[in-house]
Amino acid sequence: MTQSDDIAEIRRSVQALCAEFPGEYWREKDRERAYPGEFVDALTKAGFLAALIPEEFGGSGLKLDAAAVIMEEIQSSGCNGASAHAQMYIMNTLLRYGSPEQKAAYLPKIAAGSLRLQAFGVSEPTSGTDTLSLRTVAVRDGDQYIINGQKIWTSRAEHSDLMLLLARTTPREQAASKTEGLSIFLVDMRAASGAKSEGGGGLTIKPIRTMMNHSTTEVFFDDLRIPASSLIGEEGKGFRYILSGMNAERILIAAECVGDAKWFIEKATAYAKDRSVFARPIGQNQGVQFPIARCYAQMRAAELMVHHAAQVYDAGGNPGAEANMAKLLASEASWAAADMCVQTFGGFGFAEEYDVERKFREARLYTVAPISTNLILSYLAEHVLGLPRSY
Ligand SMILES: Cc1cc2nc3c(=O)[nH]c(=O)nc-3n(C[C@H](O)[C@H](O)[C@H](O)COP(=O)(O)OP(=O)(O)OC[C@H]3O[C@@H](n4cnc5c(N)ncnc54)[C@H](O)[C@@H]3O)c2cc1C
Repeated sequence: MTQSDDIAEIRRSVQALCAEFPGEYWREKDRERAYPGEFVDALTKAGFLAALIPEEFGGSGLKLDAAAVIMEEIQSSGCNGASAHAQMYIMNTLLRYGSPEQKAAYLPKIAAGSLRLQAFGVSEPTSGTDTLSLRTVAVRDGDQYIINGQKIWTSRAEHSDLMLLLARTTPREQAASKTEGLSIFLVDMRAASGAKSEGGGGLTIKPIRTMMNHSTTEVFFDDLRIPASSLIGEEGKGFRYILSGMNAERILIAAECVGDAKWFIEKATAYAKDRSVFARPIGQNQGVQFPIARCYAQMRAAELMVHHAAQVYDAGGNPGAEANMAKLLASEASWAAADMCVQTFGGFGFAEEYDVERKFREARLYTVAPISTNLILSYLAEHVLGLPRSY
């Protein structure tokens, strides 16, 4: 089998799985803001969420480029990978920087689906995008760390057993450089729930209701004690590790955006052929055709950049610029396609039963998270073009 046969087979298998979860399923979950647990279970059982886990630990040992295809197909089938995508991109931090003991302890269980690694705690209410200003602290106490602080937008925390957490271990003013002093922990949340002051383990999770069904939360740490063995890699080097993991995250989310753009383009094209107004299909009017064609070109350009970025990542390079450009282009392509799709559908674009309005709300996220467009532009301006640092 060639590599392209493998990719085609992955596409077919993901499509077949997604066909079991049609629009009605997502509409109901959306209405109730309920977690699509059945869908995530099906992805887990089929092994898709273990795609990046090496075969020796029970996964399929695929490259990031193939994982990107899985995420793209989920979205282009009308499903929502945001319910489970973190397991894919968090995995890279554990794979690249976890100790052999950590990998042996966690990876086989994650691959088998008995442990869920779906939560990524970086964002905080006060620091925003300025990650180096985060205030959650982890203080070493014998063979434990004690964690205090707060995270926000920790998606899927209620549906995960483990959280990858970024916390400060050395006060900013005492750190060797401004990027040192942060550390990454793999926190087992199962034993930690409830505020310490109320007799719990020190971890409280509060859901945040958002414009789309995203299972996102605020997480409060109140003297949470975790074993020192939860530390990933070296203490103080967490920011460097997280940046590398974020490249994988941006590439995978960019692939999801390409999938969304494909979904919107396909829906709009089919509707424009079918809907007849003034005794001809609306798609016969260039005023309707051209926006669809423009979105197609935009999506294809983004798709090429996503695979280029993934290939640089898979070759062991540092795809900082490529991952950022993939995320920028793909999130803009999906949002443009979402807007175009509503316009093509006219009034029906607003009706729940067509799924366009739901996908429209879901697609809006990605020019903001996991990194906003401005921050990508400022990265490119400074690190690629050598323009003066703006912040
Ligand atoms: C639904 C949802 C799910 C999320 N899931 C997670 C998760 O699982 N884990 C996690 O850690 N985080 C998560 N996030 C957080 C997400 O990564 C952040 O919202 C995103 O990075 C933007 O940060 P912010 O919201 O703090 O915006 P801010 O940093 O407050 O920025 C606000 C606006 O100002 C702009 N801005 C800020 N500084 C500058 C500057 N110097 N120059 C130009 N423009 C600037 C930004 O581009 C942005 O448009 C999620 C967010 C949402 C909404």
